[in-house]
Amino acid sequence: MKRKTGQDRSITQTWRPQTQAVRGGTARSEYGETSEALFLTSGYCYDKAGDAAARFAGEQDGMTYSRLQNPTVQMLEERIALLEGAEACRTMATGMAAMTAVLLCQLQAGDHLVGGRAAFGSCRWLTDTLLPKFGIATTIVDARDPQAFLDAVKPNTKVFFFETPANPTMDVVDLKAVCDIARERGITTVVDNAFATPALQRPMEFGADVTAYSATKMMDGQGRVLAGAVCGTEDFITNTLLPFTRNTGPTLSPFNAWVVLKGLETLDLRIRRQSENALKVGAFLEGRVPRVLHPGLVSHPQHELAMRQMDACGPIFAFEVEGREQAHGLLDALELVDISNNIGDSRSLMTHPASTTHSGVAEDKRLEMGVTEGLLRLNVGLEDVADVIEDLDRALGRVGL
Ligand SMILES: *Cc1c(COP(=O)(O)O)cnc(C)c1O
Repeated sequence: MKRKTGQDRSITQTWRPQTQAVRGGTARSEYGETSEALFLTSGYCYDKAGDAAARFAGEQDGMTYSRLQNPTVQMLEERIALLEGAEACRTMATGMAAMTAVLLCQLQAGDHLVGGRAAFGSCRWLTDTLLPKFGIATTIVDARDPQAFLDAVKPNTKVFFFETPANPTMDVVDLKAVCDIARERGITTVVDNAFATPALQRPMEFGADVTAYSATKMMDGQGRVLAGAVCGTEDFITNTLLPFTRNTGPTLSPFNAWVVLKGLETLDLRIRRQSENALKVGAFLEGRVPRVLHPGLVSHPQHELAMRQMDACGPIFAFEVEGREQAHGLLDALELVDISNNIGDSRSLMTHPASTTHSGVAEDKRLEMGVTEGLLRLNVGLEDVADVIEDLDRALGRVGL
């Protein structure tokens, strides 16, 4: 058993999160390597035909095929589960593969889902386009208001699905209030926790059933690989999610899993420093632009709620200028901060959601979500924050702000 999990859960579970981020899930091979080994293999060999038969029958421990199991991928899954405080985790090739799998694995024609309005563009495509195509009805609500979830519940409602803080307007959802509404009615709550990660917010502590991640963002954190993850109970992961993913195959590459393992070792350090930097940049922008949407600032209408459920607010926030022309002008005037739609990177990156990440969302829906023509989303990195502020100061001056 030691080789399979490498660690005794009864011990690792007592470790504090920062210890888990560095050591959780490590399973050493017979070489006793210090850093996690990269098992870049698609398949596995058996000593005897009977061993193969026993493994396929589930009567013998061991791996059969990397769509189903891989030692490097398993180390990452165990580490994320420990960080989340979840019984189990399965990783996916991308965040969107995780979101698609976590919804399709538990919904069928005739079911109903309630989704948060402010969301990643592709998540809105899932709720607005994909699910209805297969006979799954969806209602989209302003997730800042728990009562809106309650009002949307129908007898066939199976899932609540939302992000907090939400991309890109930084709407915050009251986790406890919304999860309580779901619990009382046997509805499964799925929280896309990509912005905060378990380092800053653990939705299960507030009653969430399932958390889903784009590990591409803060978990890798250095802009290298795409990855996704889903955490839940052993029962949910094994009996609901696994039958779907084992047969449809959105499997994470062992190489990408290894990169994310390395990323997790520094997650806590990075996200805390980036959160501090983002707060400083947000405070600077407050005096210069018409509107700053940052839950860590007291000016944010949901500041108190955010601070109740999060340790810090993360590296990402949004702000508004006059319109698309000024927004594009500001981006073009930047010398240090890159124009890029990625987030969670250790580099400062800025994008104009209406013409990039959310350009696929219909204009009326975009405006309803708060994605205006003047909205810009900023990911504050690990550079010296004084350099980032100087770059923004100069670029704002260029567009008359
Ligand atoms: C980026 C992102 C996704 C999608 O993740 P990928 O890894 O790009 O597929 C989903 N949800 C949120 C909140 C995101 O920021």
